[in-house]
Amino acid sequence: MIPRTIFSAEHELFRATVKRFIAEEVMPHHAAWEKDGQTPRSLWLKAGELGLLCCNIPIEYGGMGGDFLHTAVLIEEFSAAGATGPTFYLHSDIVAPYILEFGTEAQKQHWLPKMASGEVIGALGMSEPSGGSDVQAMRTNARREGDEYVINGQKVFITNGHTADLLVLACKTDPTARGRGVSLILVETHRAGFNRGRKLEKIGCKAQDTAELFFADLRVPAGNVLGGEGNGFAMLMTQLAQERLIQAIRGVACAESAVRWTIDYASQREMFGQTLADFQNTRFELADMHAQILAQRVFVDRCIELHVKGELDATDAAAAKLVATTLQCAVLDRCLQLFGGWGYMWEYPIARAFVDARMSRIGGGATEVMKQIIANSLLPKAPRAAKSKS
Ligand SMILES: Cc1cc2nc3c(=O)[nH]c(=O)nc-3n(C[C@H](O)[C@H](O)[C@H](O)COP(=O)(O)OP(=O)(O)OC[C@H]3O[C@@H](n4cnc5c(N)ncnc54)[C@H](O)[C@@H]3O)c2cc1C
Repeated sequence: MIPRTIFSAEHELFRATVKRFIAEEVMPHHAAWEKDGQTPRSLWLKAGELGLLCCNIPIEYGGMGGDFLHTAVLIEEFSAAGATGPTFYLHSDIVAPYILEFGTEAQKQHWLPKMASGEVIGALGMSEPSGGSDVQAMRTNARREGDEYVINGQKVFITNGHTADLLVLACKTDPTARGRGVSLILVETHRAGFNRGRKLEKIGCKAQDTAELFFADLRVPAGNVLGGEGNGFAMLMTQLAQERLIQAIRGVACAESAVRWTIDYASQREMFGQTLADFQNTRFELADMHAQILAQRVFVDRCIELHVKGELDATDAAAAKLVATTLQCAVLDRCLQLFGGWGYMWEYPIARAFVDARMSRIGGGATEVMKQIIANSLLPKAPRAAKSKS
């Protein structure tokens, strides 16, 4: 087996802490959280105490001062366990980086320590009912009035939408412009004019809260804008590379787990006077999946290594998401098949992982958008292609 070389002994110690946290604090309660459709705030506070939130945020802003490899460890372990409820990766590695990268010193000092402790839960509001892929066409708008922005509109599919205290909200500050009209604004969810809609019922990731959000003449100080008015689209595009790499890491870790669960199951399931693992079909299926995952693992590890050095470009991140999530969904389907009817039962982790995996080909940019980004790097841009999320 090709050894992994990207993690240090310190990262592996961190991995042991993460594994223990998942075994003790997450898995015993995950089924109950699936019924509630969200995770409790107490979990976030415990994770904060252990340094599992915002672990690669610098110490001066309350983080652990780690690197993206700590993030990778967290994502791998939560994905391997099938623990999709705690959306720490979104809070720590998608929302917080906007503030760290583009926030003023005052914004960083105010928000990051509270996010690292779990006192404040963050969410990212981009997608709208009229469309998520075509970010530049968003309709939620922020009108400047004196020292304030007045926000009106609606977002949908927002992870942590029901629990969030803080939103990084994408909205149009110039409705006549496309990309240049988009700004990111920090919105505290206690403000008048902010309303949470229904908790959306999903086919998977059931312990994650996913919400519709409404903004009706919501006023925020003009100082809440992040990284300058009109720079939102460019900021989103920079950060989406990390989000896509995260999805790739999740995809590989989840596929590896599925194969492990299937090996265990097939080795003990008896039929026709032998075990399921004795059939050549089972052995070839597992061998084939193992080989494909191994190849993905090497590619994704290389992407992680480049990202740590700040050298992973958006096209390669899109390629990583494309191939890892496609493989993840294919592997989950093939593994579930080997579980037979038990694979279709919710009590089996393979059943949950099968439906949980499906969102990976949609969220953070659909598979087709990834292909478009890659195609645009190979070919002259098609005129209509210039309008979408790439
Ligand atoms: C569980 C979950 C959690 C989510 N969390 C968040 C969140 O926290 N914050 C947030 O802002 N959003 C979130 N999303 C939204 C997600 O990012 C969007 O669903 C995604 O970007 C696709 O947008 P859409 O659903 O509007 O589909 P559409 O944009 O309507 O696209 C539909 C389909 O059209 C096709 N398509 C799209 N673009 C192209 C193209 N360029 N070329 C060819 N075909 C194309 C694809 O097949 C695509 O799946 C979440 C979604 C889910 C399911």
